[in-house]
Amino acid sequence: MRTLTKDTINKIGETVILMGWVGGRRDHGKLIFIDLRDRWGMVQIVLSPKNQELLKLADKLRSEWVVKIEGVVKERPEGMKNPELATGNIEVEATGLEILAEAKTPPFDVASDGREIGEDNRLKYRYLDLRRPRLLKNLSVRDKIISFIRDYLHKKDFIEVETPILTKSTPEGARDYVVPSRLHAGKFYALPQSPQQYKQLLMVAGLERYFQIARCFRDEDTRGDRQPEFTQLDIEMSFAEEKDILDLVENLFTELARTLFPEKHITEMPFPRLPYKEVMEKYGTDKPDLRKNKENKDELAFAFIVDFPMFEWKEEEKRWDAVHHPFTKIRSADWRTEIKKENAKNLMAHQYDFVLNGYEIGGGSIREHSPEILEKVFEIIGNKKEDIRRQFGHILEAFEYGVPPHGGIAPGIDRICMILAGEPNIREVIAFPKTGDGRDLMMDSPAELTKEQLKELHIKAEKEKNVN
Ligand code: ASP
Repeated sequence: MRTLTKDTINKIGETVILMGWVGGRRDHGKLIFIDLRDRWGMVQIVLSPKNQELLKLADKLRSEWVVKIEGVVKERPEGMKNPELATGNIEVEATGLEILAEAKTPPFDVASDGREIGEDNRLKYRYLDLRRPRLLKNLSVRDKIISFIRDYLHKKDFIEVETPILTKSTPEGARDYVVPSRLHAGKFYALPQSPQQYKQLLMVAGLERYFQIARCFRDEDTRGDRQPEFTQLDIEMSFAEEKDILDLVENLFTELARTLFPEKHITEMPFPRLPYKEVMEKYGTDKPDLRKNKENKDELAFAFIVDFPMFEWKEEEKRWDAVHHPFTKIRSADWRTEIKKENAKNLMAHQYDFVLNGYEIGGGSIREHSPEILEKVFEIIGNKKEDIRRQFGHILEAFEYGVPPHGGIAPGIDRICMILAGEPNIREVIAFPKTGDGRDLMMDSPAELTKEQLKELHIKAEKEKNVN
């Protein structure tokens, strides 16, 4: 039976079997010390000259070799205790050693916090980079956050539903990643920019409270700290007004911060709900950092920005576009007279952003559930009548079968984890992130396809390389 490093402290006097990686080796005259590492920490192993054969074998050990060690847990002599280490009061005197795997010398140190190492190298050898305790901890923090969210929403009677990854374009304002269809020549799936339409259709289906820890894909030009694929907490609720959605999110994140990060404090409760116009005038940005002390990494200044305009003018395309997305409900007393192109710049939306410490960490809206008004909105943003039916016919039709008023929001998990873990960018809280220009340096993707694969997919690459 294997003992984990963290459990050795309760086993003084017992014989244990440990498995893990050699973190380091120190030779002290006739003694050899090994730092044995597993996911839970580190324990010191001592090899004494009592057993010469074992000592000889231990002499071969190098950093990052994988070993199985049998030994007796002993209290360290006074003066040798290490209060810095959770297992610093004990050490394990080895009675047996088995080498499970040898290791090449790693391309960089995996014990440091890694900030001094070039990121390309870290990403290329991500499986080694993830061995460093800081990254292991980030993945564990992320797991705790996601599991807290799941529990919280389940307790509130939300249902998690997986929506398709192979889907059709949905307008979130970025380019789609597309996947060619082999069975339907010349046709393509789009990877979801968000599950927006599916979650709304789930409201038509009567789910009422939906969430998903959802992977989303947006093919954007390199823009700051973004990833081509990212994770969001996608939420949708029926019979809900703006206040219901914001209250839900506020309570969720307040509880989450209190439970998982008791050392942190929230600047202002309830979270301020500030009109977009006021915020722009006062701070010159729609994601103000409202912390009282901007240097304090334990301060969390959550806020909602509300009352956004519905449309913005896109000069390059010479057309109006939805600030959030076209499914957003417009604030209007009489839509027949007010919702028209000439009036686009005056129309306000039931839309909100969620911000934290100067970052936009999510956005959402109450949706327009009248197919007639929705069609108008699509027209205002430049869709022709026939295109609207072709592209959005399914949702317009669904809304003719008894659609409840509904709305939702989608906080971004990567950015929230980054802020809560105190990291400077989202790549530090993602297991296998891509570079700023969308490459996976470890897998070497994107990659070319063979001529045969392309042919099967009915596509021709302009820049073709025969990789056979
Ligand atoms: N689909 C939106 C987004 O991904 C969020 C929402 O409206 O619920 O930004």
